[in-house]
Order: sequence, then C-alpha cells, then structure tokens
Amino acid sequence: MLASALNKISHGLTFGNAMNKLRLKIEKDQKVESAYFQRTMPKKGLKERIQAGDNIIVAEGYIFEFERRGYLRAGCFVPEVVLEHPEQVKAVHEEYVHAGSDVVLAFTYYGHREKLKLIGREADLKSLNIKALRLAKEVADRTNTLLAGNICNSTIYKRDCPDAIEKTRAIFKEQIEWAIAEGVDYIVAESFSEYGEAALALECIKEYGKVPAVVTMIAHAEDKTVDGLMFGEAMNKLYAAGADIVGLNCGRGPTTMLSLIGEIRKTYKGPMAAIPVPYRTTPDEPTFLSIINPETGKDAFPEDLTAFHCSRTQIRKFAEEAKELGVQYVGLCCGNASHFMRIVAEVYGRTPPASKYSPDMSQHFIWGDKNFDSYLMDYRNTLAPK
Ligand SMILES: [Zn+2]
Repeated sequence: MLASALNKISHGLTFGNAMNKLRLKIEKDQKVESAYFQRTMPKKGLKERIQAGDNIIVAEGYIFEFERRGYLRAGCFVPEVVLEHPEQVKAVHEEYVHAGSDVVLAFTYYGHREKLKLIGREADLKSLNIKALRLAKEVADRTNTLLAGNICNSTIYKRDCPDAIEKTRAIFKEQIEWAIAEGVDYIVAESFSEYGEAALALECIKEYGKVPAVVTMIAHAEDKTVDGLMFGEAMNKLYAAGADIVGLNCGRGPTTMLSLIGEIRKTYKGPMAAIPVPYRTTPDEPTFLSIINPETGKDAFPEDLTAFHCSRTQIRKFAEEAKELGVQYVGLCCGNASHFMRIVAEVYGRTPPASKYSPDMSQHFIWGDKNFDSYLMDYRNTLAPK
C-alpha cells in the first residue's frame, strides 16, 4: 500500500494528495475489518453460544509471548508488561483478534498477590489488574468480542492446609471482584494441577463473580490430576458444580492432550475446552516440562522450547481432530502465536481478517504453480535439489 502510494508520487501526485489517498485507503481497510466483526460476531454471551452449539476460539499464551519479546522475565513469569508497556499488551490483544480469537482474555495470569510479592511489587497488585482489564475491554468493545477475566493456579495452594486454602481463596476473591467491576463477560480459571484448587476457583467465581466460568486444568505426565482423580471424573464434578465449560489447558502439546481428551470424552459429555501448548510432546515426553533438549541433555523448558515448536501442519491437524472430538472451546496456550491462531480459526470455519494474508504459494516466483521455462526449472533445482 505504501509502495503503491509512493509510486503515485513519482507519477505526478503531490505529496499531500498521495498522503490523503493513503489515509482514505487505511480508513477503508479499518471499515472492512470492523464490518467483519459486526457481521460475523454478533455479541452473544458465552452461555448462549454454548447452548447454540457455537464454537469459541480463544488465544492464550501471553506470558510466553511477552517473555519472547523481552517484556517480562522467565522464571517468575509476572505480567509486569501490563504496567510498563501497556501499548504492547493492547497490540497483542488486537493481533490475536485479527487472527481469529473470539475472546480478549485480560492479561492477569500470574498477576496475583503471591506472584507480585515474589518480585517485590505487591503494591502494584490492584493497578496491574485494573489496567489489564481495561486494556482488554478496550479491544473487546471495539471488536465486539467477548471479554474474559482470568484467575489461575495460586502457586501456594496445599490440600488439607486450611491456611493455604484461605490464602488461595483471598487471591481468587480479589481478582474476581476487580474483573466483575470492570465488566467481564465471564471468567477463565486455569492451569490447575489439583482438582481441589480448580473446584475452589469455581466456587469463588460462583460466590464473588456470578458470571459464567470456564475451568481448565493441566494434565502432567499421568492421565490423572495431582490429587488423584481421573480427568473424566474431575471434569464431571466441575461441570456438575456449575462450570459452563471445562477442559485442559497448558502442559501438554496437541497430540498428548488430544489423546487424553479422547479418554475424557468417554465419561464427560458436556462442553469441552482444549488449549494445548504448541510444542512437540510425545508419549515419552508428554508435557513441555518433560521435553529434554538432546543437544544439552537438559530440560528444554523454558529457554530451548522454541526448538520444539509445532509446525503449522501439526496445528492444523490438532484443530481438525479437536473439532472432530467436539471440542467447543479451542485455543493455544504458552508458545502461541498469531499464525497458529489463524489456522485454528480457519479449521473451525472462520475467515478472520488475517486470512487475507494466509499463505498462497501459487504466487511464488519459484515454488508457485505455473509453467516453468527451463531457466527457472534449473534455478529451482539449484535451490532445492530433488
Ligand atoms: Zn500455558
């Protein structure tokens, strides 16, 4: 677009006229994008969508994305970027919606009291939460997408320890109340290893939030929760206790998560979520925490995980199989990126604005589908001998 405008300058347009044309073109593109959201995404609530059998695409993985970009630290993984570079958070929210997310998830994951205490920023707790919620709301309002609050594993929960349980409840309560005050459509409670903590989070959403709840747990190496429940049973209990959608997030990559979802589906028949990490986990290394980097003999988590990223083909296969399994709430967690989200959205039948730029190799000058003369054929064989 810029190139064509500059080209016109050289064809006799004044600079002012060229800039005016450029502005009109940008405004037209923005209108087309707004029209997409208005047309395809009438704002129905979460419950309404589930009952109508709609699917919900959700982009997660903000912690890893901002660590990769140099805006927060691996280890403590606290979303300080919300306060220090809010414009970056807003931009990623916009990018994920552009790639097909139906939801803007406020970036309050690990923005809780215990995590802020860890880095000596407990005083920023409320301002970080409110800022994260407002950034997400701004994008959700503009794009007519759902606004979700987010609570997560407290890191201090201990079953059979009343003091730890009360502290965990207090963490959930304050984050839920801030989310409600900022007008979220629903709350995501996620990344719980123990059924007990997931159930407590749900209880708190019911008591302090009174909005719909999505509750997802992490499956580690074993196909049961850390406190010993089979996941099918845990899902049934959470659903019976009032969760609107239950499922798995984080921990496992697409293949090892979907094999477990297949098992869960035998006993749990309600609305299901699957939000894996886009890494190449295997039965021997079922989670991204268990992947060993063969070059170092050490854990790939977190710094060397990029070497184990899924291919786009693997993400497409994941989305196809998840759809086949009836996964209604689908997305990607740590390691997510917009090119992956667009694939998930497209497999689920969407054409988000980013689809305008989905790959089309037929237009490539060497790899495209066209009649090659012998010169180009020789060139291609030199680049990629077959
Ligand atoms: Zn994750």
